[in-house]
Amino acid sequence: MNPDLQKLIELDKVSQEIARLKDEIASLPKRTAEIETKLSTAKAQVEVAKTAIKDHEANKRKLESDIQDWQQKISKFREQSLAVKTNEQYKALMHEIEFAQKHINDCEEQILAGMDSSEGFANSLKAAETELKFETDEVEKEKAHARALTTEDEKKLAELNQQRHSLRDGVDPAMFANYERVAGKRKGAIAAAFDHKCSACNVMMRPQKYNELLSNSELVTCDSCGRILYHDASRQPEPPQGGRGAKGGLRANERAWFYLRTGGESGRFAYFANSKGGCTMRTFDALTGQLHDKVVKKKTTFREAFPEFLSDALILHPEHLNIQQDFEDQLPADMLEEFQLQARIAPGTSAAVPTAH
Ligand SMILES: [Zn+2]
Repeated sequence: MNPDLQKLIELDKVSQEIARLKDEIASLPKRTAEIETKLSTAKAQVEVAKTAIKDHEANKRKLESDIQDWQQKISKFREQSLAVKTNEQYKALMHEIEFAQKHINDCEEQILAGMDSSEGFANSLKAAETELKFETDEVEKEKAHARALTTEDEKKLAELNQQRHSLRDGVDPAMFANYERVAGKRKGAIAAAFDHKCSACNVMMRPQKYNELLSNSELVTCDSCGRILYHDASRQPEPPQGGRGAKGGLRANERAWFYLRTGGESGRFAYFANSKGGCTMRTFDALTGQLHDKVVKKKTTFREAFPEFLSDALILHPEHLNIQQDFEDQLPADMLEEFQLQARIAPGTSAAVPTAH
């Protein structure tokens, strides 16, 4: 591999790690704030529990003081009853005493009922305090962790920045400028290519471009996403999709373009298509784009019907062309030109130098 490209790959990795560390460092205060919010919730719960106990105790004191008041009234009525002159006055006082006693009973009942709930209040407070203690410990741990991580990240960041500088100094300035231009637009400015595809955007590469990449002579960028590409030979092509066999439903609509070396002065471009009833092969002269012949076979797929053509054919990539165009009798000019480029046929010559791999 081109040594500058090798350095750029390294540089890109370092740059991405720098970006990741910066994001991480920036996110830590937010994370700490989040856990502190959790802490304030726990604190609020403790306050609620304490207030409930306070209210409950105040209510109890009020009831006790009410009882005292009624008891004093009863004593007063009893004193008065010793001095009454008439039976009616006596009866009225006894009625007042009865009335006061009823109030005292009510208050005592409320106090008794409150004793049951006071245990519940105490338990709530205890639970809230345990939770608060736990959260406080957690927050301290998390904060310590965040501080340690920040320190570590900043140290790594300084090292990486230094690494980036020295890598940058070693790269050809024009190449670096190219890299910077792509890196300004794309996260991860460099992508591996294998199986004729850019691994970042997954778009098929033109065969000519793929060959340029394989030859390693100069910087190749993806036509679709603009990333700088390098060839990764360690990655294997993905297995063909839909392994249901040639006759399976998934293959029913398959269509493909190939360059056939036979027929015509410089070979033919062939269009194969499966349909419900069978398949079609249409071939076009590779120099003029004129229809050469058309074959229709029923109840079969093109891979089964025309193996003799496909075994030695070069697959063409019309993915980026507008193939909605009509090519019944004649290939449109742009398709013809693209296919000639892919098959390495110079228009107007008979020297075809197709390279298949
Ligand atoms: Zn791409």
